[in-house]
Amino acid sequence: MDAYFVETLVDEDDALVEARESGRLTTMPQAEVAPNQGKLLSLLVRMVGATRVLEFGTLAGYSTVWLARAVGEGGQVTTLELEQQNATVAEKNLERAGVLDRVQIMVGRAAESAQRLIDAETQPYDFVFIDADKPSNPAYLEASLQLSRPGTVIVIDNVVRNGAVIDASSTDDRVQGVRSVLEKIAKDGRLDATSLQTVGSKGWDGFTILRRAR
Ligand code: SAM
Repeated sequence: MDAYFVETLVDEDDALVEARESGRLTTMPQAEVAPNQGKLLSLLVRMVGATRVLEFGTLAGYSTVWLARAVGEGGQVTTLELEQQNATVAEKNLERAGVLDRVQIMVGRAAESAQRLIDAETQPYDFVFIDADKPSNPAYLEASLQLSRPGTVIVIDNVVRNGAVIDASSTDDRVQGVRSVLEKIAKDGRLDATSLQTVGSKGWDGFTILRRAR
């Protein structure tokens, strides 16, 4: 079904195909979003009218290309990546896609990079995509909220993990990272959220989508 949807509805040009395939040169091959998920991010960014986007987890820059194209020429994407190796691959992909001038890649631990943005009193972001190390999801949400404004939309990837997230006693810290961030969202009166399961070329997983109301 994903192949059919992608073939029918998703325009992946050579730069996107190369960005996706160059995942093999990174530390986490095949960990990028699927093409129809990249298109979903792009649609959400444009529906919100976002021009400032923050991303946790760049990898080869596949999702970053979708986000950077969606913000348009005057827009800006800041993407946070731990590994220099991945950032180097991403930079080439962003250049090939013609969007490197609107993307800032910050290399290092995302929690520290985000703190630098907070300390610098960076202008709030309109849209945030959280897709880095899952145990840090609660910290990334917290940082995102400090870098947000009422109306900011946040998308968190991999919140299902083949159904493992239902297990409250799981010893997998990625599962606990998802469960903690969902509990945090539920308790925060400023946030309106839902989660959706997805099944497709990336297996059984899902997204949480939230909006800061105030
Ligand atoms: N968003 C990318 C896409 O869809 O094309 C995929 C990102 S991949 C799932 C997760 C990325 O997070 C990897 O590149 C990994 O190196 C990075 N990462 C892991 N731990 C991190 C950390 N502490 N700080 C920043 N990035 C981290």
